[in-house]
This record gives sequence, C-alpha cells and structure tokens, in this order.
Amino acid sequence: MIRVAVAGAAGRMGETVCTAVQGAVDMELVGRADPRLGVTLEDVLTGANPPEVVVDFTVPDTALANALACVRAGVHVVVGTTGFDPAALRQAQHDQIPSTQPQANVLIAPNFAIGAVLMMRFAVEAARHMAKAEIVELHHEEKLDAPSGTAARTAQLIAEVTGGAEPPIHSVRLPGMVANQEVIFGDIGQTLTIRHDTIGRESFMPGVLLAIRRVAGLEQSPVVGLEQLLF
Ligand code: NAP
Repeated sequence: MIRVAVAGAAGRMGETVCTAVQGAVDMELVGRADPRLGVTLEDVLTGANPPEVVVDFTVPDTALANALACVRAGVHVVVGTTGFDPAALRQAQHDQIPSTQPQANVLIAPNFAIGAVLMMRFAVEAARHMAKAEIVELHHEEKLDAPSGTAARTAQLIAEVTGGAEPPIHSVRLPGMVANQEVIFGDIGQTLTIRHDTIGRESFMPGVLLAIRRVAGLEQSPVVGLEQLLF
C-alpha cells in the first residue's frame, strides 16, 4: 500500500483526489492538509502515520514551498497546482536541499487528463507543418491563474519545435466551464483546430493515480509533464 496525503484536500481537485485514492486498492489516504480543515502540511508530514507521497492541488503561491517541505521531509510529491514556475522549484531544490539527504522525487503536471496530454502532443506535430498558431483556453471563473498551466506548457512546446516565438494565448473565465483548450493553426487557405474539453474533474484521476504509483521510481527530479510517464 502506498501511503498518500493530499494538500489542498478541501478544494475542488483535492476532494476528488481524496476520493480516488480511497478507491484505489493499492493506496491508503493517511492525511488531508488544508487551511479549511485546520490541518497544515507540516502536521501531516510529522504525524503518526506519515505519507510516502503527497499530492498537491493548492494555490500558486504555496505550491513551491509545499513541494520543498515534502522533499526536505524525504516524501515524494506529485504537483498538480498550476501558475508557478517549475524552473524556480528546480533551482530551490538544488540550492536548499543537501545532496546528502535521501532522494525524494517531484513530478509536476499542468494537466493530468490523458486527452489534454494528447492535445499537446498533436499540437506539437501540427506546429511542424502549419504556419501560425494561437491558443484559446477556457476555464471556470474561480481559477486563480491565467494563462492556464496547460496553455503555457503548450505554447512552450510549440516554440521548442518551431524555434520561433511562443504563440499568443487567450484566456476565458466563465461559470459553467471546467477546463477546455483549443489550439488553432492557420496556413494558406486553411485552418486546423485541436480541442480538448474536460467534462468533470474525474478526468484527471487516472493520471494522478499513475503519477502517485510512479513518482518514487523516477530517475531524475523534478520531472515536468505526465507525457514523461506515458510515452
Ligand atoms: P481550490 O478549490 O481553490 O482548492 C485549493 C485548496 O488548497 C483550497 O482549499 C485552499 O484553501 C487550499 N490551500 C491553500 N494553501 C494551502 C496550503 N499551504 N496547504 C494546503 N492547502 C492549501 O482549487 P482547485 O480548483 O482544486 O485547483 C487547485 C489547483 O489545481 C489550481 O492551481 C488549478 O489550476 C490546478 N489544477 C490542475 C489540474 C491538473 O491536471 N494538473 C487540473 C485542475 C486544476 P483556502 O481556500 O483556504 O486558501
């Protein structure tokens, strides 16, 4: 059994992750950290039944500090929170965690839905052949960060493959949305649209559970993107 704790456990994603972990035959939910529950991550990390893996779905301002606290405690961490810079975590991990300490791994994924990972993969392929691209991302109105982590990652991947600038991103925030993204390509006399729609938060759970199972075995850390586990 993998002992799992969730940071942001009272949030929209955190609650869904708690339910998914409780439903997994090879996992045990040992902690729920969230200000709304009056439980800190530190309480969970130092409790009587500490986790082997923490899953973080909190807020952009705290995700980096949470990940570092886990690594310092020798606990692997799966980060789903978006809106912070993974490069800053890499640097902080390098600067602040002694290399003599037992290794704890970090996996960061801006999107745990397989369809979204495929959308990014297909967009990279299309970018090799089409002249220009723009990204439209549409999310629920409570989302704190804009552009979304998925859109930022898609733009970065497209720029890497084309060697040009990152494509523009348009962010829409409306009630009724969960998480949706279109990558629109244009060329002479034609357009191509690659679109992914998240209907419910359960869509992210197979990816989250896969990350929990695989994070301890990563050969390097931090790893960014669920695609690193899938392809
Ligand atoms: P949410 O409903 O606002 O939940 C966030 C929760 O984290 C809140 O209960 C918040 O409490 C709590 N929190 C804040 N600071 C904390 C800390 N230091 N330790 C523990 N918990 C803390 O947000 P959400 O919709 O679940 O989204 C969470 C994050 O996941 C966002 O960054 C979102 O973009 C991202 N996301 C990622 C994916 C993916 O596939 N990677 C998918 C969907 C969403 P307070 O309200 O009291 O601050």
